[in-house]
Amino acid sequence: MALTISTPSNPSYLADDAIAKIHENPGFGVYFSDHMALIDWTSELGWTNARIVDHTPFSMDPAGSVYHYAQEAFEGLKAYRRADGSTWLFRPRSNAQRFANSCARLALPQLPEDDFVESVRQLVAVDSRWVPSGHEQSLYIRPFAVATESFLGVRPGKAVTYCVITSPVGSYFAGGVAPVDIWVETHYSRVANGGTGAAKCGGNYAASLLPQEIAYQHGCNQVMFVDNAEHTWVEELGGMNFAIITKDDELITPELNGNILPGITRDSLLTLAPEVGLTAQERPVSLAEVYEGLAKGTIAELFACGTAAVITPIGSLTDESGRHEVNVPADGGRTIALRNLLIDIQYGRIADTHGWTEQV
Ligand code: PMP
Repeated sequence: MALTISTPSNPSYLADDAIAKIHENPGFGVYFSDHMALIDWTSELGWTNARIVDHTPFSMDPAGSVYHYAQEAFEGLKAYRRADGSTWLFRPRSNAQRFANSCARLALPQLPEDDFVESVRQLVAVDSRWVPSGHEQSLYIRPFAVATESFLGVRPGKAVTYCVITSPVGSYFAGGVAPVDIWVETHYSRVANGGTGAAKCGGNYAASLLPQEIAYQHGCNQVMFVDNAEHTWVEELGGMNFAIITKDDELITPELNGNILPGITRDSLLTLAPEVGLTAQERPVSLAEVYEGLAKGTIAELFACGTAAVITPIGSLTDESGRHEVNVPADGGRTIALRNLLIDIQYGRIADTHGWTEQV
């Protein structure tokens, strides 16, 4: 079913000079564009009433089920301004597919892929003034679905709202692409076997907030989680996937085991690895293997990757037993080579031979 998205006719929104001021230093997820996309769903009618309206607060009954049982899923992708002024999305169909998978796990209705992409595309077109053009800036796009039915029984909500908001963003970490220090959490788990780890849902992030605070207390910027059963196998960071580059030119990342978010950046880098001379491998990675590889020098680089931060070199791993330093190459090594390659594709500076980019 193709949905028509109606756009409001009154373009009386933030003035261009105010947007330009925001674009001077947008931060991350602080400012929001003028509009949002909405599509309603009810168990009787299915998806209806797709529209673009002003970005305004929701009104929801306090009995709305998402407030109580966290029935929610979300996505994150970006629109990039190219040098010629055009705006492009990166792999929006992959986000649409992952969103459908997350919604299935959360017992939420699945929005058809075309409707997801169209809602994003039309919202970005309406708010194109908000796509910044500064170095490594972009418009972060946050689609999500929440159960809104007023009902306190524990079952999937019979009313759901799908919404897309956008936010102009700069670099995710205040320090730019400087290496980050990671706290390795071996007490608290983010997700459990058979749980919602492979879904992008708010509950996973709620569970990661306390460990993230603990990471900050240890002077680290991010938290890394290991498997919940044995506390042995590396899974991912609070908001990014994890990868190793070995001295022998391998790119190794933990395999998707049902607990790890299938990152679209991760998947893109596995594809691009040969282009910077790396052989890509997905397999279980133990914490002991990482520490040993760092000590012996068989691991050359570690990095974290995701839409928000793109690729960020890791400078150290710390856990209860102490700190493990990474000897980060002065020129940034393969991590930065991969990062530059991906960014050049996203911003259209080199040809996209993989069919990943879509013009708005
Ligand atoms: N893991 C987690 C927990 C995340 O929140 C994200 C960000 N979406 C990622 C990995 C990376 O996914 P992607 O590359 O699709 O942004």
